[in-house]
Amino acid sequence: MSNPIDLVRADLRDFSGYRSARSEKVQGQVWLNANEASVPNAADGEGRLRRYPDPQPEALRTRLAALYGCEPSQLIAGRGSDEGIDLLVRALCEPGNGAVVTTSPTFGMYAICARLHGVRVVDVPLREAGNEFVCDYAAVGDAALAASARLVFLCSPGNPSGGALSLDAVSDLCTLLADHAVVVVDEAYAEFANARSAVSLLDVHPNIAVLRTLSKAHALAGARIGSVIADARLIEVLRRCQAPYPLPAPCVDMALHALDDTSQARTRSLIANTLSERVRLANQLPLLASVRNVYTSAANFLLVRFDDAQSALDALLAAGIVVRDMRHLPGLHDALRITIGRPDENDRVLAALANVAVAA
Ligand SMILES: *Cc1c(COP(=O)(O)O)cnc(C)c1O
Repeated sequence: MSNPIDLVRADLRDFSGYRSARSEKVQGQVWLNANEASVPNAADGEGRLRRYPDPQPEALRTRLAALYGCEPSQLIAGRGSDEGIDLLVRALCEPGNGAVVTTSPTFGMYAICARLHGVRVVDVPLREAGNEFVCDYAAVGDAALAASARLVFLCSPGNPSGGALSLDAVSDLCTLLADHAVVVVDEAYAEFANARSAVSLLDVHPNIAVLRTLSKAHALAGARIGSVIADARLIEVLRRCQAPYPLPAPCVDMALHALDDTSQARTRSLIANTLSERVRLANQLPLLASVRNVYTSAANFLLVRFDDAQSALDALLAAGIVVRDMRHLPGLHDALRITIGRPDENDRVLAALANVAVAA
C-alpha cells in the first residue's frame, strides 16, 4: 500500500504552513497573543465572536466523522466542499505543470480550480446510454496515466448527470492509479442515493478522497461547511494548505445543532420527501409532449432534455420558476436541470411545462 504523501507536490512535502495563535497548545487566563480586542463588539452580546475560532473544532470533526463513517483524523472541514476541491488541487498539482482528469458533463469547480492554479484539465466525457450517463473507467485510467495527472475528479451521484458510480469500478481505478493519482469522489448528493459511500474504500485505498457537504441534504448551503475525507496523512497536508481560521464560529454552532439527533431525524424525513417527489416528477415529466428525455437520478434534481429547451425555459420563467440552464455544456445543448422542490413547487413545474407549445 503506497503512501499518499508521495502524491503531494514535492515542494510542499515539508511545508508547515502558517502557525496561527490558536495552533500553539498553551494554557492561561489572560490571552494577549493574537491581537484580538479585549472587549466584545457592541453587536456581539456575549462576546462569542471576539476571539479567533478554533481552526478545526474537535466537536464538529467528531460529529462529521461519525456521520460519514471515518475517523476524525481522516476528515478536514472547510468552507464548503468547494474549498476541499481547491485544497486538493493546490496540494497535489504542481502549478503550471500538473493535470487533473474530469468526466464531463460534471461539476464546474474542478476545472475552475485547476485553471486558477495553472493546471491542465483532461476531460474523459461520460458516455450516454439511454437515460443514463456511464463512466468509461478504463479511459479515465489511461488518460490519468498518460497526462501524469495527480487528481481524478469523479462525481457520484453526478452533477448534472444524476447517476451514481459503481464502487467496484472506483476501487479498481484506485488500484490502477495507486502510485500515480488521488481519486476524488464528490458525494455532494450522497444522502439522496441508495448506495454505499466511497468512504468505505479508504481502508483499502489510501489514494481516495471523498467530498461531503452540509449544503444539499442538510439544507445549510449558507453555512458553508464541507468535508474532505482521506488518509490521515493527506488530511494533515491539506490542513497545512488551508486558511488559518476557515470555519466561522456561528457556522460551526449551526452545524453542530443541525447534526444533533432531532435535526438529523428531521433531515432524514425531508430527504424521504424529496425521494418520493423525485419518483413522481421522473414519472410525470416524460408524459409531457415537450420532454425528450429524463435521466435517472440518484440526487435531488433531474436532468431533462427538451424538444425546444428555450421554449421550456421561457415557459418556466413566465411562471416565475428558475431552473438551471445546462445548454452551455458539451452534449447538453437541449437540457435543463431542475431541482426537486416541495410538492407545490413541483406541481408548478409540471403545470408550466404542460403549456409548452410543441413544434409540429
Ligand atoms: C453543490 C456541489 C458542491 C458544492 O458544495 P459546497 O459544500 O456548498 O461547496 C460540490 N460538488 C458538487 C457536485 C455539487 O453539486
